[in-house]
Amino acid sequence: MCVGSFMNVVIYRLPLILLGSEDNERRFSLAWPPSHCPVCQGRIRFYDNIPVLSWLVLRGKCRYCRTPISAVYPLTEAITGLWFTGVYLSLNDPEITLLTLSGLASQLPLLALFCLLYCVMVIDIRYYLIPDVLSLGILWAGLVFSVSGLLSATPIQSVLGGVFAYSVLWLVQQGYRVIRGFEGLGRGDVKLFAAAGVWLGLNQVPWLILLSAVCGGVLYGVRTFYQKNSLLQVSCTSSEWDTDHSESDIRSNKLYIPFGPAIALAFLLLYLIQI
Ligand SMILES: [Zn+2]
Repeated sequence: MCVGSFMNVVIYRLPLILLGSEDNERRFSLAWPPSHCPVCQGRIRFYDNIPVLSWLVLRGKCRYCRTPISAVYPLTEAITGLWFTGVYLSLNDPEITLLTLSGLASQLPLLALFCLLYCVMVIDIRYYLIPDVLSLGILWAGLVFSVSGLLSATPIQSVLGGVFAYSVLWLVQQGYRVIRGFEGLGRGDVKLFAAAGVWLGLNQVPWLILLSAVCGGVLYGVRTFYQKNSLLQVSCTSSEWDTDHSESDIRSNKLYIPFGPAIALAFLLLYLIQI
């Protein structure tokens, strides 16, 4: 849950660092300034920063100004805690604990991948953005794990998988732009596909592309079902990022969905099947 707590910091601050915060006077880094309420600037004490528990004790409000604190924070912490527990319980040999070096090394890829992909999902949903530091971080981590023999994919499979996934999706992206005249696939999405190709290996790339499209369709369907006014919401959000597109473009259903969560979900599913 403490790892989840740090992921909250990444999810909240990384876009501010990359896109610039509204308050330009304050320079953000992941470590500075210390945790504070964004409304009243009240410093969050260590006893108010205990994962999940503090949110429950404070009933989801700032101690000083009573501003509601999003339930996403404790949810991230709880989901991460559950994931780590699940990975621990799924260890075949109960003698191996995560606390021994070999136990930790064998499960490190699964734990790291989950944390990075979770951050990708939430940031992409909120900002239509996949930070390079996350997608390329996943890519390089995959190469290191592959060379270390911690992945099912051999190093050659990994390199070819990354190159193949990037090439195919880059062609799709460029082709779509030439034919339709506007972006159909984000550059961040192409990099995330490349990272997934590295982790899964060349053979899995066709499945990755297929499953990502299926997940994207399902997620889009679910969102449209629950948000009848999603057209309006997307037009507000995307106008901030893509001023090139007229409102009629968006209304005639040429609207954007964050594709990152779909890729991340397909990526994680295929990786779980593989191990
Ligand atoms: Zn406050």
